[in-house]
Amino acid sequence: MASSRRVISTSFIRVIVCLCFFRLSQGKGAAKQPFTLKNLPSLEKASSFPTTRHATYDYIVIGGGTAGCPLAATLSLKYKVLLLERGGSPYGNRNVSYMENFHIGLSNMAPDSASQAFVSTDGVINARARVLGGGTCINAGFYSRASSSFVQDVGWDADLVNESYPWVEDKVVHWPKIAPWQAALRDGLVQAGVSPFNGYTYDHVSGTKVGGTIFDENGHRHTAADLLAAGDPNNLRVLLHASVHKIVFNSQQGRLKPRAIGVQFADEDGRLHQALLNNNRESEIIVSSGAIGSPQLLLLSGIGPKNDLKNHNIPVILHNKYVGKRMADNPMNSIFIPTKSPPRQSLIETVGITGAGVFIEASSGFGQSSDSIHCHHGIMSAEIGQLSTVPPKQRSLELAKKYAQDKLNLPKEVFQGGFILEKIDGPLSTGHLVLIDTDVRNNPAVTFNYFSHPQDLSRCVYGIKTIEKILKTNRFAKLTPDAAGYEMERMLNMSVRANVNLIPKHTNTTESLEQFCKDTVITIWHYHGGCNVGKVVDQQHRVLGVSGLRVIDGSTFSRSPGTNPQATVMMMGRYFGVKILRGRLGQAAGV
Ligand code: FAD
Repeated sequence: MASSRRVISTSFIRVIVCLCFFRLSQGKGAAKQPFTLKNLPSLEKASSFPTTRHATYDYIVIGGGTAGCPLAATLSLKYKVLLLERGGSPYGNRNVSYMENFHIGLSNMAPDSASQAFVSTDGVINARARVLGGGTCINAGFYSRASSSFVQDVGWDADLVNESYPWVEDKVVHWPKIAPWQAALRDGLVQAGVSPFNGYTYDHVSGTKVGGTIFDENGHRHTAADLLAAGDPNNLRVLLHASVHKIVFNSQQGRLKPRAIGVQFADEDGRLHQALLNNNRESEIIVSSGAIGSPQLLLLSGIGPKNDLKNHNIPVILHNKYVGKRMADNPMNSIFIPTKSPPRQSLIETVGITGAGVFIEASSGFGQSSDSIHCHHGIMSAEIGQLSTVPPKQRSLELAKKYAQDKLNLPKEVFQGGFILEKIDGPLSTGHLVLIDTDVRNNPAVTFNYFSHPQDLSRCVYGIKTIEKILKTNRFAKLTPDAAGYEMERMLNMSVRANVNLIPKHTNTTESLEQFCKDTVITIWHYHGGCNVGKVVDQQHRVLGVSGLRVIDGSTFSRSPGTNPQATVMMMGRYFGVKILRGRLGQAAGV
């Protein structure tokens, strides 16, 4: 026993030395300048906006999310910017601020929750942000850059990309104090052949690595809203609870193209306001409302497939059949792994980047507090066998809520464990988004058609087999009571019962890995598309066929960047802000 302890501690020291080496090799990323929020602009309620006579703006940014905040901050360095966000402030919101509340925030279905749940027509429970800071306020925090081939494929200027990532990183990104479950995955991945181990890095490199996180060492979340402090508070007006209903166009006869001139928005009391651009030809409305919100808003404003618009009596400003099309969500499938003792909570810190277009990540410890036991956190219930016993047609978000409340009576042991998950990179299966009604507060209908393309399905099977290899490594065998290792059949069975999607399960769900993938598909919330480059916007993200309007956010991607997208979405806010300033001012932009 004593000697085995010595072996463990020797290898532990080796790992630490190795990790220290990799940390040090990060160079300038590690020695960060302290970033302060003292320049944060005041966050005003939308009702403070006058209903008559008001200022006009050079830029109106719709959506203070992951891309919208860095974009508005950057533009405000030289121009007057109005940022309109439908949600409230992240500051003082405990569900946003602390990692331990990640899933509590996600399962909060109150109208003022920072997370707005939706269920795709595929039957997968999903979530979108409704708060200043957007997805960075409700996400799992993992930070990892896009590959250089992604940057090349989308046609971005690599030098500016390499200036823009550190601009974000210096302000909101940290290195994780790696949790035991994440360390186990790291070692298991390498032992299973997802190698080499690339240490701590933000870069997208094949093999296994530890990435960055927007949670600091105290589990406190830093968000895109913090990036507003890098703007000029005298030029930046931020309104909260400002839901934009539509973009207003000047489509006078004789004009070649309809021109966006302002927006209509409702304040927190439901009163309508209008905000306008100034008369400068280069002033613009920029939609940064996310992959659900941006196509929805274009449709509500009259840009989209004309028959769909007519069905909702929306006057057609521009027929474009691609708005809301090519919606994609990277399928995620997850294996629940019970553990001898309760694992410490961890969200994503480690990733395996396989050569087959499958990423392997992990999370653990969802039952760590009495509060969290009440939550289903939207995708899986760590407490096995919940909604799975209810016939699919009878399952609903309301029922999920009731189940969450009833969990108090369950023994604590059923919460003990972690998940290893696999994500399919660049899914070939795509779907669409259509309006259900004309109320911007309601979710549109979204379909992702998970696994409709056979290659996505075969990659999922590859991912599950990789997880099986990881579970067979001695690193994982040690986590079982008698060190005998995990039996895959049992893990698959438990995972089916832990699954909370609304898709019917089949009798052969665990016999066929293809069926397992289809029946237990969930989301990793990296959905994208709907306003794709080349179809809805041009290379500069200007909306095709109109003037004075751009879309800058995840809705423009044909493929989600990196292993996880937030790094690149924040970066792109900064990137396009700088591009726009340099385009107008050249050297005088000073950025
Ligand atoms: P958002 O950040 O969603 O911004 C859109 C903003 O627009 C929102 O604030 C919204 O309230 C606002 N808005 C929408 N409509 C209107 C309107 N009509 N008027 C005014 N405002 C409006 N990525 C990672 O890299 N790592 C992770 O660990 C990770 N985990 C995730 C976990 C969850 C639960 C979720 C939901 C996402 C996760 N992601 C993760 C994905 C990542 O957070 C998103 O891809 C990214 O935040 C999307 O950024 P965006 O700017 O496109 O949209």
